[in-house]
Amino acid sequence: MSVDYLHTTQTKNSKATRLIDPQGRHLNYLRLAVTDRCNFRCTYCMPKEGIDLKARDDILGFKEMQHLLGIFLDLGVTKVRITGGEPFVRKGLPDFLSRINQYKKLETINLTTNAYFIEDTIPLFQKIKSGSINISLDSLKRDVFYQITRRDDFERVWNSIEKILLTDLNVKLNMVVLKGINDNEIVDFAALAKNNKVEVRFIEQMPFNGGHFSNDTISAEDIINTLQNAFPNLVEHLTVKSTARIFEVPGFSGKIGIIAGHSRTFCSTCSRLRLTPDGTFKTCLYDRGAVNLKDMLRIGKSDQAIKTAIRDAVAKRAKDGFESEQRAQQIIHFAKTPLSMAQIGG
Ligand code: SAM
Repeated sequence: MSVDYLHTTQTKNSKATRLIDPQGRHLNYLRLAVTDRCNFRCTYCMPKEGIDLKARDDILGFKEMQHLLGIFLDLGVTKVRITGGEPFVRKGLPDFLSRINQYKKLETINLTTNAYFIEDTIPLFQKIKSGSINISLDSLKRDVFYQITRRDDFERVWNSIEKILLTDLNVKLNMVVLKGINDNEIVDFAALAKNNKVEVRFIEQMPFNGGHFSNDTISAEDIINTLQNAFPNLVEHLTVKSTARIFEVPGFSGKIGIIAGHSRTFCSTCSRLRLTPDGTFKTCLYDRGAVNLKDMLRIGKSDQAIKTAIRDAVAKRAKDGFESEQRAQQIIHFAKTPLSMAQIGG
């Protein structure tokens, strides 16, 4: 437990230490879910009564997260996204962010949040090496916001978004498109990119709502068609290598992104790894976890053993989300257990 992450002089990881999967994808981006708790109850993420929460002892402590993050940095990870649940419901998050900000090998700290608590933290984000702050917002209408989140908090969230948009932070707005609920707001959302330097991103609904999933979703292609009808000069940036397809409308300050999380058309470029709140290490959103790193830490396994476990999991990484899902369905006790994105870290 004595790796000195702060003062390392090695800034670039050699090929030998980097995590490369069987398809040759370099995995340098860790999504770290710091909690499974959330103050919202978005219908597409969890049932009204919430999800079965892990006991506090079964959740990674911040020190454990720091330790594991250090190990991932040694293995060539350079970016982290803090997510959850809602990251800000975890007490001590700002201190944790300040601490990991000192890790030399960590190039960017990204965050995904519902923005309910973000206002007070804006100055902190201006100080740390923050990359993108992704804010989930699924409606511009108070009643629809309430219908989706089951919380009447549109005004508070919108006021915070207006404040953060006035800063020079890199903000992305994420909207999960829901048939018959908010799909009539696609054009209004895209229009937010006209005068704001923001990336407005439309996300396909995925089968992680903690319950029954209906396949009655709006596809990325449907979203693109709607956008093309509204903005005939919409152009796609074909050079950007990202999990989002990026579009621009000439004259707009911001951009438009489409994330085909359910169609899974971006797996060939996916560089993401995940650590869930209970320490499960995942190499794909659709898998059921390769190994529990918290358990390894708590029984005193060495950093070297943990690195080997991470490498072994990466060596078996599925080629895409469909293969991962298929493998997960073969594990009898997982096959019918619904998951919520809050348990995975979206
Ligand atoms: N609480 C934070 C938030 O609201 O952004 C972070 C966690 S949330 C699980 C992360 C992202 O996952 C959000 O953008 C949310 O909209 C998205 N998400 C949750 N469930 C989803 C689902 N079933 N399909 C697609 N996206 C989902």
